[in-house]
Amino acid sequence: MKRAVVVGSGAAGATAAKALQGLFDVIVYEPGREFRPLGPSLRFAEKLKRAGLLLNVRQVGLIYPPMRTARTKDGMVLVWGRTTGGTTTMTAGNALRVDGSLRDLGVDLDAEFGELAAEIPISDVHRARWRESTRRLYEAFGEAGLDPRPMPKMADPAKCHGCGRCILGCPTGAKWDARRFLDEARAKGARVVTGAKVEKVVAPSDRASGVVVRRRGRRRFVAADLIILAAGGFGTPAILERSGIVREPRLSVDPVLCVAAPWPGALQNREVPMPFAAGLEGFILSPYFDFLSYFFNPKWPAGPDDIVSLMIKLADSNEGDVRGGKIRKPLTSSDRDRLALAVRLAEDVLARLGIPRAKTYLGTLNAGHPGGMLPLTAAAAGTLHDPRLPANVYVADATLLPGSLGNPPSLTVMALARKVSRLAAGRFA
Ligand SMILES: Cc1cc2nc3c(=O)[nH]c(=O)nc-3n(C[C@H](O)[C@H](O)[C@H](O)COP(=O)(O)OP(=O)(O)OC[C@H]3O[C@@H](n4cnc5c(N)ncnc54)[C@H](O)[C@@H]3O)c2cc1C
Ligand code: SF4
Repeated sequence: MKRAVVVGSGAAGATAAKALQGLFDVIVYEPGREFRPLGPSLRFAEKLKRAGLLLNVRQVGLIYPPMRTARTKDGMVLVWGRTTGGTTTMTAGNALRVDGSLRDLGVDLDAEFGELAAEIPISDVHRARWRESTRRLYEAFGEAGLDPRPMPKMADPAKCHGCGRCILGCPTGAKWDARRFLDEARAKGARVVTGAKVEKVVAPSDRASGVVVRRRGRRRFVAADLIILAAGGFGTPAILERSGIVREPRLSVDPVLCVAAPWPGALQNREVPMPFAAGLEGFILSPYFDFLSYFFNPKWPAGPDDIVSLMIKLADSNEGDVRGGKIRKPLTSSDRDRLALAVRLAEDVLARLGIPRAKTYLGTLNAGHPGGMLPLTAAAAGTLHDPRLPANVYVADATLLPGSLGNPPSLTVMALARKVSRLAAGRFA
């Protein structure tokens, strides 16, 4: 059987592995290890926080190794997962279809979204179990003239007890993540090699012969008939650069900024994160206990039970680059203007809970939705293959998104990866 190499095991990689195994002999390369939730270390992290020993966000890798971070020149903390299942292991479980910009290009993902809906448990039944504070916040959003909508979640409601730890790794297995697809691919015979980083694609002509993989300090060439790049919005552009293949300086990341305040007994840290959201022009607003800010931002006081926090998730400008091992992601003046507007709106919602503006404080600017550096165009809508890539190399991850979604992208990324895999198999299986 022909061999397909899938680079990365996150949303797109796991989806591609599942779709391609059987048609190809699939090998998935993943630099991280098997995912483990944060587990009991949360209590340890709380002790460190209270002792004032957590000061630098880089320490996150010590207590929660699958989560990786980098800081941009402007101080924005970029977050991603390096582990089996990729960043999906640390999502809030949000399941939105946000393919408007792809549809505008002529990419029809109806069939793929339909299939995913049949395979992944998605619902908003968590609403029936919202805490009093969440219900009050929902009312406050309405009073502020916003249009809050309960967030559909990828989770098994029977196993979810609303502990609020989704981004730290679900302790009960209720939350769906891409490891399920990876396991299905494995069950059909796919090999998943962890601790293995793909350095580059080898393409002596307009067809690639394979990839160079680095594992345990050794480099090795692996031949492939088909290569699917799914190393994520930061990882895939780096591989393209090392392979001498084009990419565009159009990185978007959906920056997140939380506006927090004291609210005794809010218990938002023990509530489903982002239980609902309101969509506005260029950003969304949603309740979210920001563990990253809580642990690593000294402005956030100890005592997570008594903090209320609203997340602003911005649809940022497509301006940024991954080059020479560094990530450049400036915020444009338009990004900053919209952030300032969103902060005022969040403060307005909090004021309706009786919290004066003077009591609010901001979180650490962070971002976890990288993509956009080899954006799809209308010309490639039929093939989902950028003609600048070797014929048998496809990009399947968030790198393909034509612009910032300002919304949770993983379901859309998976639908896209499934279609890419189908089209690639049609040509090369
Ligand atoms: C805290 C947080 C919460 C989020 N919550 C949500 C949410 O609720 N809903 C939602 O839809 N989205 C959410 N997201 C975003 C979502 O997880 C990502 O958009 C999605 O996982 C992107 O899919 P991907 O396949 O492009 O990349 P990833 O899922 O990140 O997968 C990339 C994989 O490639 C691997 N890799 C990297 N470099 C290499 C290499 N050189 N060789 C081989 N493999 C490599 C990585 O280790 C990783 O496993 C969240 C993100 C974060 C950070
Ligand atoms: S709230 Fe807790 S139990 Fe429910 S999906 Fe998230 S981590 Fe799992």
